[in-house]
Amino acid sequence: MVRRLLVIGGDAAGMGAATQARRLDPDLEIVVAERGRFTSYSACGIPYLVGGDVSSVEDLVVKTPAELRAQHRIDVRPGHEVVAVDLDRRQAELRDVERERTMRLPFDQLMFGTGARPARPDLPGIDEPWVHGVQTLEDGTRLLDAAESSSCRDVIIVGAGYIGLEMAEAFHRRGSRVTLVEASDHVMGRTLDPDLGARVAAALERLGVEVRLGERVEAFEGGRVITAGGALPADVVVLGLGVEPNGELAADAGIELGVRGAIQVDRRQRTSAEGVYAAGDCADTFDTIALRRIYVALGTVANRTARVAGINLGGGYATFPGVVGTAVTKICETEVGRTGLTERDAASAGFEAVTVSIESTVRAGYFPGAESVTVKLVVERGTGRLLGGQLVGGPGAAKRIDVLATALYAGLTVNDLVNVDLSYAPPFSPVWDPVQAAARKALGAI
Ligand SMILES: Cc1cc2nc3c(=O)[nH]c(=O)nc-3n(C[C@H](O)[C@H](O)[C@H](O)COP(=O)(O)OP(=O)(O)OC[C@H]3O[C@@H](n4cnc5c(N)ncnc54)[C@H](O)[C@@H]3O)c2cc1C
Repeated sequence: MVRRLLVIGGDAAGMGAATQARRLDPDLEIVVAERGRFTSYSACGIPYLVGGDVSSVEDLVVKTPAELRAQHRIDVRPGHEVVAVDLDRRQAELRDVERERTMRLPFDQLMFGTGARPARPDLPGIDEPWVHGVQTLEDGTRLLDAAESSSCRDVIIVGAGYIGLEMAEAFHRRGSRVTLVEASDHVMGRTLDPDLGARVAAALERLGVEVRLGERVEAFEGGRVITAGGALPADVVVLGLGVEPNGELAADAGIELGVRGAIQVDRRQRTSAEGVYAAGDCADTFDTIALRRIYVALGTVANRTARVAGINLGGGYATFPGVVGTAVTKICETEVGRTGLTERDAASAGFEAVTVSIESTVRAGYFPGAESVTVKLVVERGTGRLLGGQLVGGPGAAKRIDVLATALYAGLTVNDLVNVDLSYAPPFSPVWDPVQAAARKALGAI
């Protein structure tokens, strides 16, 4: 008898799991319900669409529903929202968004790839049409229209996480006056230590973005953003306050939730219900350094957890070890990378840590384009084990974080890192690569 896999959500996690399951099981019937118009798209590309690097929203679609049907024999249904799941009867209720009608669909296995939504605190005026979240390509289209409109002069970005910063650059490039309002005293405060965050704030100010730290937004009214410090004119507001996992549908079906309301999964991406899996931004994951469950909403994690879920759904066996929390971004020419624990994370996880910072260059000092880079390492006192790293620097800096991520994955000490046989030529790095120079300094400090 043919078994049916129903996948809820048609982006990175949902489609990643569906295509992976298909590779293993050619006979499985696979249905993907996606409430939006687009499937298999790159939300990560939205800031570059709005900023003008990417020319059309279609360029951000990796595979259309028609391609997925033809190439993978997956029954992809855009414009279909799953509104309820009955685990006892093994059936879901699907709503055809356009025709406003519902139908029941039986399933044998179920996969949640429902993602996340931008956090929208309960503030007066937050639902005004000029106050935008950024998550789906529909959001991207609305933001592009706003950026291209001649009335888009003053843009307020609320929240200084990486999405807020990328959107600040995008609107700046369109010629808008951009103000970034952040309640805490730091830029990228959840992912960088304040000393590195200060370098990012300085890069934004050099660009011409007004950075207002320690200022809380209280309301949005009549083309103005009201903060504790006064009223700021705003034609467009972009919310960059982080995301909340879409776990409610699973919770209503009786599935257990974990960290921050994300769906709790085990190492095989199984939820608490038999035959039901979850991956991507709707699910929690495991921090392999702090050894605790965490919530990380990143495309890298969505793709890797989806692969594991898909293998298991297709009848294979795979496990996901967890993450160290590696991410990169850029603000014009300034590149940022982070991995593992910050100084503050290390303290809260109970580590006795030493930190070191060095200044170096992304190329040999005499070579054209030898922009500066700051590297900070967080190292366990005594053992010398690397716990985390952050860097901020000119073009060529960011992807060096992957060396540190690999070191974290392998559990290397700074002594190991000093001895890793990294490459060198003047156009690429100084003879001691900045991450190795930082490891040398850490070796002295511990
Ligand atoms: C502006 C921006 C920039 C980013 N940049 C980066 C980056 O540079 N690097 C990085 O690693 N990550 C980045 N990310 C994060 C990355 O895009 C997400 O982690 C990734 O998209 C998560 O994939 P997902 O499939 O889990 O969730 P989503 O992409 O949110 O997809 C979930 C899908 O499920 C659908 N859905 C939800 N509920 C239902 C339902 N009940 N029925 C049917 N369909 C439903 C939604 O419509 C949505 O299409 C960025 C995100 C944004 C918004």
